[in-house]
Amino acid sequence: MTPMTAESESPDGPVSAGTGRQVRLSLTRRPARPARHLADLSRDERREVAVSLGQPAFRADQVSRHYFVRLVDADETDAMTDLPEDARGPLLEALLPRLLVPARTLSCDDGLTRKTAWRTADGALLESVIMRYPDRATVCVSSQAGCGMGCPFCATGQGGLTRNLSTAEIVEQVVHAARVLRRQELAGGAGRLSNVVFMGMGEPLANYTAVTAAVRRLISPPPEGLGLSARGLTVSTVGLVPAMRRLAGEGLPVTLAVSLHAPDDELRDELVPVNTRWPVAEVLAAAWEYAEVTGRRVSIEYALIDGVNDDVARADALATLLTGRLAHVNLIPLNPTEGSSWQASAPAGQRAFVRRLRERGIATTVRDTRGREIAAACGQLAAEPAGRAGRAGRAESARPVESAEPVTSAEPVTSGVPVTSGKPVSSGESVESGKPVEAAGAVSGSPVHGSRVLR
Ligand code: SF4
Repeated sequence: MTPMTAESESPDGPVSAGTGRQVRLSLTRRPARPARHLADLSRDERREVAVSLGQPAFRADQVSRHYFVRLVDADETDAMTDLPEDARGPLLEALLPRLLVPARTLSCDDGLTRKTAWRTADGALLESVIMRYPDRATVCVSSQAGCGMGCPFCATGQGGLTRNLSTAEIVEQVVHAARVLRRQELAGGAGRLSNVVFMGMGEPLANYTAVTAAVRRLISPPPEGLGLSARGLTVSTVGLVPAMRRLAGEGLPVTLAVSLHAPDDELRDELVPVNTRWPVAEVLAAAWEYAEVTGRRVSIEYALIDGVNDDVARADALATLLTGRLAHVNLIPLNPTEGSSWQASAPAGQRAFVRRLRERGIATTVRDTRGREIAAACGQLAAEPAGRAGRAGRAESARPVESAEPVTSAEPVTSGVPVTSGKPVSSGESVESGKPVEAAGAVSGSPVHGSRVLR
C-alpha cells in the first residue's frame, strides 16, 4: 500500500488533517465574481464580444469550436492557428479565461475513476469525478463550492457553502472530462463522455440559474455548446419544491434525481434538514409532476444507513409511496465520512431492503461504490485534499496520478485518519446475487452519485 500524502490549506495557512476531525476548506475570503467565459454567454453574446474587440463576429465561433469541439485547453493557444496572432490574445482573454486550476488529482478503480479537486480564481474549492464504465463514461460535477443544506451524513454538507459556481465553472468541469477521455488519460482506451450528473458538491437547484444555463450549454450543438444528449444528464435535488416545479417547465428532458433517504418526515427531518420546509409528500408531488411533464422516470436516491433507515418497515413505506409512479429507486450503501458514526447497512440488511422493494414491484438498483478509496464516492466530496486523501491509507489502489499546479501554500500532511465507519460493499456487486449490477443510474444511464454525495 502506498499511503498518500495530502495537502490542506486555509486562507491563513495549512490546516492539520491529523486530528480526526473534519478539516474544512471553505474559504473565508469574500467570493469574487468569476471572470466571464464564453460558456457563460450565448452565441450571439460571444459574437458581440468579438465585434467589441474589433474582430469579425465569426471569430467568436472559431474560439467556441476550439473549446467545445476540439476541446482545446485555455493554455493551448498554439493550437488555435486559425485565429490571427494579433487577435488571439485579446479574444482568448475575453472569451476563454482559465477558471479552474487543478489542485489535486487522484485515481482509483484501476484508473477508471478520477477525482479532481479544483481551485477557482478566488480560491474556492470544488471537486469533480470522472468514472469510466464498459458502456459509458460519466462525470459528476459540482454546482456549488460547498453546500448549505447541512445533510449530516454528507462531507460536503459538513463544510458549509462557500459560493455558487458560475455557469462556465460548471461547464468547464464537463469539458475537462471530455478532454481527458478523448486524450485517453483515463484507463480503458479512447472514450467519449456520455453522461453528466449534477451530484458533486452543492445542491444544484439552489444555484438554479447557473445550473440550467449549464445544462443548456451542454446540450446545445456546437458552436453554441458541447452537443451532449439531454438524456445523459441527471440533475439531483434534496427537494427544493419550487425549483423542481420550475425545472419541469424548462423543456429540458434531463433526469431528475430526488435524494429522499427516508420515507417519513420524522426521520427525513433529521437526515435532510430542508425536509422541515418541504416535507416528503410535497417533494414527491413535485417529482411526479416532473415525471408527468417530461415523461422521464424520476430516480429516488436512498442512502442505506445501518440501523437508521434500512429497516424493512421503511422499505414497505417507501414502496407504498412509489407504487404506480414513474420512478426507480437507487440505493446507496452509505459511504464513510469523517466524524460520522453512521455506517453503511450490513449486506444482509441491504438484501432485505432490496428484496422488499422488488417484491412490491419497485424497480431498484444498488449503486456501486466507485471512488470510495479516494473519497470520491457519494457523500464524500468535500474538496479537502488532506482529510480525504489521508483516509485513503486503507486504499491500496488509490494513488495520486498528477498534481498539476501544486498548491503552493499547502503543506503535505499525513493524516492517516482511520475510517471507523462504513462497511464496504463489494463494488458493483448485487447484494442479492453477488453478480455485477449496473451501477447506480442504471435508469438514468449514469453511474450517478458515483461521486459525491448521497444525492
Ligand atoms: S447531500 Fe447534497 S444537499 Fe445535502 S449537504 Fe450534501 S451536497 Fe448538500
